[in-house]
Amino acid sequence: MQKKIKRIGVLTSGGDSPGMNAAIRAVVRTGIYHGLEVFGIMRGFQGLIEDDIIKMESRSVANIIQRGGTILKTARCKIFHEAEGRKKAYDILKKHGIDGLVIIGGDGSFRGALEFSKEHDIACIGIAGTIDKDIFGTDFTIGFDTAVNTAIEAIDKIRDTADAHDRLFIIEVMGRDSGYIALHSGIATGAENILIPELKTDIEDIIKSLQEKERRRKLVNIIVVAEGDEYGGATNVAKIIKDRLPETETRVCILGHIQRGGAPSCLDRLIASRMGYHAVECLIEGKYNVFVGILNNKMNYVPLEKVGKKKNNIGEEWMKIVKILAS
Ligand code: ADP
Repeated sequence: MQKKIKRIGVLTSGGDSPGMNAAIRAVVRTGIYHGLEVFGIMRGFQGLIEDDIIKMESRSVANIIQRGGTILKTARCKIFHEAEGRKKAYDILKKHGIDGLVIIGGDGSFRGALEFSKEHDIACIGIAGTIDKDIFGTDFTIGFDTAVNTAIEAIDKIRDTADAHDRLFIIEVMGRDSGYIALHSGIATGAENILIPELKTDIEDIIKSLQEKERRRKLVNIIVVAEGDEYGGATNVAKIIKDRLPETETRVCILGHIQRGGAPSCLDRLIASRMGYHAVECLIEGKYNVFVGILNNKMNYVPLEKVGKKKNNIGEEWMKIVKILAS
């Protein structure tokens, strides 16, 4: 398919992440700059199937670059998994004369876009928006930097009270399949241990190191746990430690959804603006069915069929550094 695109749609899908609004703004204004008509599709693929579509003007995206969440709202859409649902989506796009679609979301949304583009004559471009930073082919995903900074701010505060009471705090951060928030926030706050789904957790080693630290009277300890760690999150890890070291004063803190919200950081606004701009440039240049990533500070256009989760090699060297620096 190589035809001139005149009307494009933009949607946000899957988990929301701070900076999605900055990406929407960039897509809308770059599209208008190129003389395209731009449509905002509400609630991801669900709103598309329900024909919940609005025309976007330059002013529609005024005053949103600094706002978390997404003005287009987001959703998970079961029927888009079925060919029948995707056909419905296609018919609605055709009704509006839309032949290019920008999908801001995570790897799940990209898999949906891939299925869609295989079956229908719609040019799809993904923009990597997820706090998990778990997509191969890009060093950055929109929202990660903000989420990790939110986690850092919270952990710094928790360390103050941990220090005042000589306590062990086990802090759970987001990341069902991905340990990047735990790894980065743990390193940046000087955590003694970081537990992530990508690496085997040696609980005996953690107990031994806590015992050894207690002997040295180092009683303030922070353990950062990704929610998807093999032990099932901070509450379970705390139970195991409490059983083995009943004398240790232990507290659990689950940071939860505060990590998704809030004003996007400077970095997230920058990468969202850059990716949004290049997503529209792709549609103009006929570079279809790719997602827009940034690798080694250069734009990287990854074919949607190559989308995969970033899993391997996370943190091996960092874990060694954590051990040395937290002694
Ligand atoms: P994220 O994009 O944040 O990873 P999800 O994995 O929940 O979020 O995916 C978002 C939406 O993308 C799903 O609700 C569904 O509508 C669509 N989707 C995900 N995977 C597929 C797939 N294999 N086929 C079709 N649609 C999919």
